[in-house]
Amino acid sequence: MELIENCMNKVLNGKSITMKEALTLASISSNYVSELAEAANIICREFNGNKVDVESLINAKSGNCPEDCYFCAQAARYNTNIKRYPLLDKYTITESAEKAKKSGASSFCLVCAYREPPEDDFNAICNIISYIKDKVGIDVNCSLGFMTEKRARRLKDVGVKRYNHNLETCKSYFDKICSTHNYNDRVRTAKIVKSVGLELCSGGIIGLGESLEQRLELAFEAKELEPDEFPFNILIARENTPLAKNRTLDPLEIIKMISIYRFIMPKTIIKLAGGREVHLKEFESMALLGGANGIITGGYLTVGGNEASRDLSMIRNLGLEV
Ligand code: SF4
Repeated sequence: MELIENCMNKVLNGKSITMKEALTLASISSNYVSELAEAANIICREFNGNKVDVESLINAKSGNCPEDCYFCAQAARYNTNIKRYPLLDKYTITESAEKAKKSGASSFCLVCAYREPPEDDFNAICNIISYIKDKVGIDVNCSLGFMTEKRARRLKDVGVKRYNHNLETCKSYFDKICSTHNYNDRVRTAKIVKSVGLELCSGGIIGLGESLEQRLELAFEAKELEPDEFPFNILIARENTPLAKNRTLDPLEIIKMISIYRFIMPKTIIKLAGGREVHLKEFESMALLGGANGIITGGYLTVGGNEASRDLSMIRNLGLEV
């Protein structure tokens, strides 16, 4: 299809596609999704080689979050059936990092459900990260909620590589998915993270009820922040959250979006994150050959996922590298 080829050549020549072009790509019929995915794969390989970034994470402090993100099973105010617990101890977290390393993951992400960590927890987390860096020797990333510059510097000093703070959705839709903070609050932390020299991981979730245009807006807005990584989540609608009744997305609709995100952010790691196994099913491989070049393996914050060995075989069978 001429449109796909023209857009691909534009990106390969170092130019950006426009919102209008992205919207036109998003309107192609499902018959052309394989062609779109192949073009996204060419862009992905050109700028990122064959490597897939494999990350394992731990939910180091679960639930009881004071915020009200309407999709989140960890918000204290929704009666969801998850395990809630305070910050895990150093040995439990280190054991999980060791397991991640043994399983072949290239990084380990320590995730906690906070608006921002209380001082005692923050100090404990810094000590735990230093310990893991010494004992395990794996790249450590973390996601702890809002950051101040002082705290971000401290994380950098203890050896954190990448800090995750998702935009979640685009600016024009943000007030439909959260009332306790706003889009600018999220952008502020993302910018602080970058300003102290940490790598930025900032992505979002599709399927929150946003329009197609807003889905693309998210990618263009994320691009402006120049994240090293964009985690691509697909909503798993959780019982008793305000988005419990959201419709399930079709796998080809998801692949199409991953591919267009690759056109928009040619050099960013686009990581398949929450919802990958549930929604993509047998299309997971197509996503990795259609623009995505990262995965979270071994489960997520409140739902399980594929075993790392299964994911690593899938990656190798596709001729890609870990
Ligand atoms: S801030 Fe994070 S943990 Fe808290 S409700 Fe929102 S998404 Fe969930």
